[in-house]
Amino acid sequence: MTQRGHVGIAGAGLVGRILAFSLLRRGWRVTLFDRDRLDGRESCGMAGAGMLAPFAELEHAEPIVNHLGLEGLHLWPQILSACKKPVFFQQEGSLMVAEPKDRPDLARIHRRVLAKIEDAQDVIAVDSHAMRHLEPNLCGRFGAGLYFPSEGQLEGWELFPALMHEILDRGARWHTCTEVRHLGAHRIETQDGAHEFDWVMDCRGLGARPDLKRLRGVRGELIAVEAPDVRLTRPIRLIQPRFPVYVVPRPDSIYLIGATVIESDSLAPLSVRGGLELLAAAYHLDPGFATARICNVSIHCRPAFPDNVPRVLHRPGLIRLNGLYRHGFLATPAIVADVLAHLAGALDDIQFPELWHRESE
Ligand SMILES: Cc1cc2nc3c(=O)[nH]c(=O)nc-3n(C[C@H](O)[C@H](O)[C@H](O)COP(=O)(O)OP(=O)(O)OC[C@H]3O[C@@H](n4cnc5c(N)ncnc54)[C@H](O)[C@@H]3O)c2cc1C
Repeated sequence: MTQRGHVGIAGAGLVGRILAFSLLRRGWRVTLFDRDRLDGRESCGMAGAGMLAPFAELEHAEPIVNHLGLEGLHLWPQILSACKKPVFFQQEGSLMVAEPKDRPDLARIHRRVLAKIEDAQDVIAVDSHAMRHLEPNLCGRFGAGLYFPSEGQLEGWELFPALMHEILDRGARWHTCTEVRHLGAHRIETQDGAHEFDWVMDCRGLGARPDLKRLRGVRGELIAVEAPDVRLTRPIRLIQPRFPVYVVPRPDSIYLIGATVIESDSLAPLSVRGGLELLAAAYHLDPGFATARICNVSIHCRPAFPDNVPRVLHRPGLIRLNGLYRHGFLATPAIVADVLAHLAGALDDIQFPELWHRESE
């Protein structure tokens, strides 16, 4: 494979890892810098639920999120099949359910999603018969819902180490516990000095705020439980008055219950209100959660621009990928594919040019 050049990546969280892996596969040399350790425990990506939900998210998201997510569903199996370590991935669809009193909200969401998509078959209204087939344990209490048959999910806690191994195996340098103090075109400065590259990629998420003044944090709280008495096979969203709560099944009877959406960049511990609302909703969804054991609480702040749409800010020698908000897993593969096309000079191959903004020098 031809050697293409050297890329310095600031931030080895979700976006930085996917980008590093993709660059290495195409023959680029890569050096990563992150203030965290190799496991990436402190990154927003490790808090994420890993849902690939380009339709269910349309209740609030712009149609571009749907397009990015559909491309992501296409690209993820290719990315994961190139990893030696297995990463749980499934595409069994997802369900949105509501109690009878909240059904008008479900109908409103249905109309809203339909208005933003081309194929009405991507969201299906289900009755109790279909619900019994999809999630037998829910059909007694939730006799109707919306089914998004093409949606998927992956296991972030497996993805992070799998990408780490691939990145190191493919010869990247990785400066851990290294604070990036300043970066610009071709140059990253850390406590160890300055490093020169053909390209610099800024993937610092919320850590890029000194350079991206419009970036904000949107706090999310998520509880992982081990629930052997619960039998759910796909992500379920419970529509209720304050905010929808989702339950995402993972292997070994682990369920993620999330997530609050709070306009704050605080990383303070889980609030009583947040914990009560999440756990009460999960218990309401399936009383089997009563015997569950809490095994992890994740708190992080999603990096978001004012419109909650991601951006690629670029100038010669520097590209910034940021503002992934609730959609880092969903959208990053498609955005990274466009970055690879840009680096290769194949500008006509860029699928999402509306995300690209030229940065003044
Ligand atoms: C509770 C919750 C649930 C979510 N669920 C989903 C979901 O189901 N599906 C989905 O698609 N998305 C989801 N997300 C969103 C997703 O996790 C984010 O969009 C994504 O993690 C953002 O990736 P990032 O790489 O930009 O940031 P991060 O993953 O935070 O990575 C940034 C990295 O930069 C490093 N860094 C920052 N500043 C510096 C510096 N100065 N020097 C060195 N290193 C630095 C950090 O240490 C970090 O490793 C969820 C988020 C939350 C909080």
